[in-house]
Amino acid sequence: MTAASGYQQPRGHLAYLKLAAAAEALPAELDHATANELSHTAFLERLLAVEVAATAQRRHASLERFASLPATWRLDDFDYDAQPSVDRKLVNELSTLRFLDDATNILFIGPPGVGKTMLAVGLARAAIDAGYRTYYTTAADLAAKCHRAALEGRWATTMRFYAGPRLLVIDEVGYLPLAGEAAAALFQVITQRYGKGSIALTTNLGVGSWGRIFDDPIVAAAMLDRLLHRSVVFNIDGQSYRMRAHQARADKLRQAVTP
Ligand code: ADP
Ligand code: MG
Repeated sequence: MTAASGYQQPRGHLAYLKLAAAAEALPAELDHATANELSHTAFLERLLAVEVAATAQRRHASLERFASLPATWRLDDFDYDAQPSVDRKLVNELSTLRFLDDATNILFIGPPGVGKTMLAVGLARAAIDAGYRTYYTTAADLAAKCHRAALEGRWATTMRFYAGPRLLVIDEVGYLPLAGEAAAALFQVITQRYGKGSIALTTNLGVGSWGRIFDDPIVAAAMLDRLLHRSVVFNIDGQSYRMRAHQARADKLRQAVTP
């Protein structure tokens, strides 16, 4: 048997098994093994590692596409000096993702621009990097999708969709009033995830004002009850980060023009 035909057969097996990365790496890995007198085990380990890395990368890319995060923010990008009301230790603890194990919910409450979405997206990014299925939606988008689903007879499938991810981010609850069907959709999503899967939720309204978002204060109370039962709450106050940047620029300009 020639070296070439001896190599074609394992390559064919790898391709048949759809181990494309290993099939492609085979000639170089064989050369490397010969040149370095690798043991069979060491050679096999290197070849399989190529396929494992390729699979992990594909899986990560697919999780990332599915999650539809609106930005590339990471928790490490958060400037704690600018927002002292955010407990850095608590965020670091959350970044271990242990909270996913007991379906703890995370609530970020605060006025616009204080970093609520940034923190929720940062957590989502950490979850994706750890291999967890994650999904980002705004409350308005969730309501719109559920409305369409109801019209098209896909309500149950859509509810299953929102139950699926290990971490569900629901951004911007409270910016728009959620009445009737929209409130019912959010209520069902929260209820079916209760005790099973974490929600990271951002809102501009303190929990005391949730009655204002929903027509029905009893639904609002029931929703909060489930969300808060096992939860970590960040009450973020202070200045908007965007405004702060504007302010700094304005101050600089003012200094430049005043004699
Ligand atoms: P919110 O969701 O509370 O309205 P965002 O998370 O969208 O606020 O933040 C608004 C902008 O300010 C974003 O560009 C975000 O990256 C930035 N930002 C807010 N807080 C911080 C912070 N503490 N460190 C770094 N960037 C911040
Ligand atoms: Mg936001």
